[in-house]
Amino acid sequence: MSKLQSLFSTYFDESQVYFDVPMYKHTSFRIGGEAKVLYLPNSIEDIKKVIEISQKNSIPYYIIGNGTNLLVKDNGFDGVIIKIAKNMNSIKLVSDNKIYAQSGTSFSALSNFALKNSLKGLEFASGIPGTVGGAVTMNAGAHGGEIKDFVINVDILNSNNEFENKDCNDMGFVYRNSNVSKENYIVLGANFILEHGKYEDIMENMKQIILKRKNSQPLDMPSAGSTFKRPPNNFAGKLIMECGLAGYTIGGAKVSEKHCGFILNTGNAKAEDVLKLIDYIINKVEQKYNITLEPEIKIIGR
Ligand SMILES: Cc1cc2nc3c(=O)[nH]c(=O)nc-3n(C[C@H](O)[C@H](O)[C@H](O)COP(=O)(O)OP(=O)(O)OC[C@H]3O[C@@H](n4cnc5c(N)ncnc54)[C@H](O)[C@@H]3O)c2cc1C
Repeated sequence: MSKLQSLFSTYFDESQVYFDVPMYKHTSFRIGGEAKVLYLPNSIEDIKKVIEISQKNSIPYYIIGNGTNLLVKDNGFDGVIIKIAKNMNSIKLVSDNKIYAQSGTSFSALSNFALKNSLKGLEFASGIPGTVGGAVTMNAGAHGGEIKDFVINVDILNSNNEFENKDCNDMGFVYRNSNVSKENYIVLGANFILEHGKYEDIMENMKQIILKRKNSQPLDMPSAGSTFKRPPNNFAGKLIMECGLAGYTIGGAKVSEKHCGFILNTGNAKAEDVLKLIDYIINKVEQKYNITLEPEIKIIGR
C-alpha cells in the first residue's frame, strides 16, 4: 500500500475513497488516466477535512463535478480528485421564487425543479450535463442565458478552507468563467432568484431547447461540449468549419461534422490525440483568420 493510500485509509471512510481510478469513467469525454485517489464527499465537513489533510501533506487536489468540461491527460492525476456530485445534491425552494441548490445538483435537475415550481429563466440549462458547482465555475450558458443572471449568492470554501457566502457581484462572472478557479474556491451551493411563469410555457421552452440541441449537437458520441470559447463577434464552430476541418481526425479524436466546435472521442481517443487536434485547429484558424481560439475545456493531469 502506498503512503497516500495508507493516509486516506486511516482518515476516511472506505465507502468514499477509491484508489487508482481511471478518469475516463468520470468524464463525458471518456478519456483520461488514473487518479491516485478519488474522494466522494457527503458533506461540507468532508470537503474541509479532505482539503486540510491534502494541504498538510502537500498532496495536489482538484475538484470536479460531472467532468463534462474536462480533459484528463493520459498519465492521470497524481493526487486527489474530489468529486462533488450526486452525494451532495439537495435542492429546495427557500421562498416562492428562490431556490437553493447544493453544488452537486445536476444543472438539468435544477432546471426541472424550477419548472415544477413554475419558475422561469433556467430553461437554457436543459441538457447541459454538468453540476451546479461546474455551472457556477464556468458561468455556464446557452441560448442567450447564463447562470450568473439568476445567482443571488454562492456558498464557498475559500483558499483558507473557510466558509464564505459570496454575493453574485463578487464572483467575477464573465463569459464562461468566474473567480472560482483563479481564487481556488470550492463551490458548495448557490441561491437563485427566478420569475414566476406559466408551467406550460416554461415546459414548451425547455422542449424547444432540447430539440435544438439534438438537431445541432453530436450527442451520440463522447465529448466535453464546445471545445473552444466563442471568440468576440464570431463562433468557433463556424471558423473551424470554414477552415475545412469538419471530420478532421487525429488518432481517435475527431472534429464533429454536425457541430465543428465539438471534438469527439470516436472510441479509443487518447488525451494526447485531443491535445494535438486542439493545437492543429488553433493554428489553422490563426493562419486563416488571425483569430486565436481559446479552449473552454479544463485540462488537468500529466
Ligand atoms: C454534450 C455537452 C453539451 C454541453 N453544452 C453546454 C452548454 O450549452 N453550455 C455550457 O456552458 N456548457 C456546456 N457543456 C459543458 C459543461 O457541461 C459545462 O461547462 C458544465 O457547467 C460543467 O459542469 P461539470 O459539473 O461537469 O464540471 P466539471 O467538468 O467537472 O468541471 C469544470 C470546472 O469546474 C470546476 N468545478 C466543478 N465543480 C466545482 C465545485 N463544486 N467547486 C469548485 N470548482 C468546481 C472544475 O474544477 C473545473 O475547473 C456541455 C458539455 C457537453 C458534454
